[in-house]
Amino acid sequence: MGMLTSSSRCVEMANGYTMESSSSQSVAGLLRLIPAVDELLNRPGLRDMEKRVGHRLAVEVTRNVLRALRDNISRGTVAEISTEAVEAEILKEAEAEIGFSLQPVINATGVILHTNLGRAPIAREALEHLVEAAAGYSNLEYDLERGERGKRDVHTERLFRSLLGAEQALVVNNNAAAVLLALNTLAEGAEVIVSRGELIEIGGSFRIPDVCAKSGAVLREVGTTNRTRAGDYAAAINERTRVLLRVHPSNFRVVGFTERPALEELVDLAHRHNLLLMEDLGSGCLIDLSLKGVRGELPAGLSLQAGADVVTFSGDKLLGGPQAGILVGKREPLERIRKNPMFRALRVDKLTIAALEMTVSLYLQGRLDSIPALRMIRLSKEQIAARAGRLVEKISACPGFTATLRDGQSVIGGGSTPGQTLETSLVAVRHRQHSATRLEENFRLRKPAILGRVEQDEFLLDLRTVSENEEEKIAQAFNKLFGNQ
Ligand SMILES: *Cc1c(COP(=O)(O)O)cnc(C)c1O
Repeated sequence: MGMLTSSSRCVEMANGYTMESSSSQSVAGLLRLIPAVDELLNRPGLRDMEKRVGHRLAVEVTRNVLRALRDNISRGTVAEISTEAVEAEILKEAEAEIGFSLQPVINATGVILHTNLGRAPIAREALEHLVEAAAGYSNLEYDLERGERGKRDVHTERLFRSLLGAEQALVVNNNAAAVLLALNTLAEGAEVIVSRGELIEIGGSFRIPDVCAKSGAVLREVGTTNRTRAGDYAAAINERTRVLLRVHPSNFRVVGFTERPALEELVDLAHRHNLLLMEDLGSGCLIDLSLKGVRGELPAGLSLQAGADVVTFSGDKLLGGPQAGILVGKREPLERIRKNPMFRALRVDKLTIAALEMTVSLYLQGRLDSIPALRMIRLSKEQIAARAGRLVEKISACPGFTATLRDGQSVIGGGSTPGQTLETSLVAVRHRQHSATRLEENFRLRKPAILGRVEQDEFLLDLRTVSENEEEKIAQAFNKLFGNQ
């Protein structure tokens, strides 16, 4: 194998053979040199692979690789056949065939609740509880004291009661389901009043007007995009109105000439007309993070204190738990919601209940740093800079790379704090030969994938969202990438 240019390296990676410009084999000659399937499968490395994946798959993958090789020879893009490279390609393809589709990735983007990357990582304690519940039987719907059928909500309800002062709590598949279920129960065939400033789209086709329509409720818009007053709600109330809905504008901010009534004012208005006040909090921050540099949103507990009847929020946003939709509030409306047949269709399984129970319990125990998302939010720029400095040194020792520290911003994400960021210290990487885009791609296509950002031709890594264990894997990846240049 001679010296490889970077473009021929690509060819090598993609097709499992190498290219050497000095070679002068004819196409027919090369085709004759292609090893037979049986011959390949008899090589020790492939024999082991065949034991793992089975004969049928081994033969199929080998045939596919040889077919691609034959095509490339005919196209004149191959000058030499290396059996080792063909073998490596077959191994790679076979691993890909039996590998998982859902894979762990290293999130070095600095976006903590990254919806595309699975939002909140779950606390280790919650995972242990989940494994216990998953591996065997449990009292999921069985009252051990009475020896009779019980309800699956009891496990989390008592915790939300203590944590948020809720009279009752229900858990469903996600917050979108919680909103749909609540509106369907409380306002089907009737009217829901929402401010025009809160008719939001969260993404993934969750749009308040559409959810409202699907719930069977009629949406009555009031006010304007930037200003809505309590009087606007009052003027829209009629005999068909059932609910005043307040929605947290999770992923955008209206600034300037704006007005939004206090929650207490809307609660008061709703109750004077025998209506319910429902709030979709979205991220549902459970603690006051303001001390740590994030002006927190209204916590679910404060909404209940202000008198809201039903409050909904996500389990895997700021709460830092599993995917779930949590409904907390007054007993009467929540009892009606639980009796809705749709509740049965949207309920959660024992795995979610176990992980959620432990996550909320960690809050009650004050063990916030055990919850990964909260721990990441609370990391100071200095703590991150200390770790980033160590990584900069390791990367700088890799041939071809330069790395420096840069001031930057991390994002909480999950629609929790639009427009607000956390100060961080980024590792900014350049390579002598390769562009930042090329670096980004190479790290993304590794296993595990390492995901960063590209800005002004620098590949940026934010260690706020990277564990110390993963940090070591990143350093090793730099060592291996373009290793021979
Ligand atoms: C995120 C969000 C939702 C959807 O929550 P999921 O748990 O993703 O279903 C609904 N409403 C608001 C205001 C949100 O921010």
